Amino acid sequence: TDLNVASRRAASASAFARAQDLMPGGVSSPVRAYKAVGGDPVYIRSGKGAVVTDLDGLEYVDYVGSYGPLILGHAPDTVLAALSKAAARGTTFGMPTEAESTLAAMVIDAVPSVEMVRFVNSGTEAAMSAIRLARAATGRPAIVKCTGCYHGHSDALLVEAGSGALTLGQPSSPGVPKDITQNTLLVPFNDLEAARAVFEAHPDQIAAFAVEPVGGNMGCVPPVEGYLEGLRSLCDEFGAMLLFDEVMTGFRVARGGAQELYAVTPDLTCLGKVIGGGLPCAAYGGRRDLMEQVAPAGPMYQAGTLSGNPLAMAAGIATLAELENPDLYGQLESTTRQLAEGLATRAERAGVPVQIARVGSMLCVFFAESPVLSYEQAVRCRTDRFAAFFNAMLERGVILPPSQYECWFISAAHDGELIKQTLQAAEHGFAAAVEI
Ligand code: PMP
Repeated sequence: TDLNVASRRAASASAFARAQDLMPGGVSSPVRAYKAVGGDPVYIRSGKGAVVTDLDGLEYVDYVGSYGPLILGHAPDTVLAALSKAAARGTTFGMPTEAESTLAAMVIDAVPSVEMVRFVNSGTEAAMSAIRLARAATGRPAIVKCTGCYHGHSDALLVEAGSGALTLGQPSSPGVPKDITQNTLLVPFNDLEAARAVFEAHPDQIAAFAVEPVGGNMGCVPPVEGYLEGLRSLCDEFGAMLLFDEVMTGFRVARGGAQELYAVTPDLTCLGKVIGGGLPCAAYGGRRDLMEQVAPAGPMYQAGTLSGNPLAMAAGIATLAELENPDLYGQLESTTRQLAEGLATRAERAGVPVQIARVGSMLCVFFAESPVLSYEQAVRCRTDRFAAFFNAMLERGVILPPSQYECWFISAAHDGELIKQTLQAAEHGFAAAVEI
């Protein structure tokens, strides 16, 4: 059957063969390779709603969701209309447009900690710049990050990182000199004692504690009760900035992000993914007194030729406007709960131990015997079982992120029928996993 499977995706296979000669690993981002699950990546021709179509014309229920931005699904009519209107006026000017203020006002309105915002082009830039601002504002050199959290690939933050780095077993990268990461202090996620210990060991040295308020790059790892509150008070006690990297959780787990869901207010927030409505866009924001230290209002320099790009602003505005519908997050919650419960039942029936972790419309099926609350626990998952599950799902028309350590993203376009289809596929997926 392997031959059959390969020939079903002949166009993807030949597209990948060509790409491998032209780009490292054939991809523009390592998470897109199928290194952890085997086989060639599926090449996408188009997507509409919750369904993508590949180069060979095969359709899949999509849970990749471009790794988070597509909360409304693929190619929503409102976003397409906004984009074509904006494109007809010109794609970039390097001069201000009103759309930037429109999107900024929407972000500030929704996200509790954000009084002013600066747009950038990627989550990597947002986190790198927010760290620079925390250092500028405190005059301190060190930052703390959690093992398994991912804040993009900037030098100082690419240390024991999650996402593709974790999938490939390369949590830290060559090419990052020691003297750049000596100011990056590491602690386990969800461990308040370790957080206190790092502050006590480096008094007056720590500019910021950076954290994904819901770990989304080592699977889905919710904060344990009291963890975020505890970080808030430690930062207050030791005069450090609390930095929430909400690139994934912002407008995803709630309109106001994890800070709304858990009612903990950071000093600085990174946003990305959903705020760009599927176009390259991210942002960092926070209290006015901090943000006014950013150039040209203040001395901390950060810039971008395409930042606040008119097309990205238009897609972001159209997306955030839809998210003002008060029913939408309730709908996402109930769709995802239905999926999570259905997966749990079917895994149990198949006799394969899994942990279904979920916050809002982020979900992960951990092939593990006990709940996963940290990187240290995440790395013990049965990635071989995940690979078998992944491939069985793919054969039955459900496409997942090709790693145990990435979240599935559910969109407003995932309806009851697609969830049913997914659960039917999962019966085969779990049966394949249990054989490993
Ligand atoms: N922070 C978090 C929490 C993320 O999930 C990601 C991307 N997965 C990033 C930062 C980096 O964003 P980008 O890939 O846009 O650089």
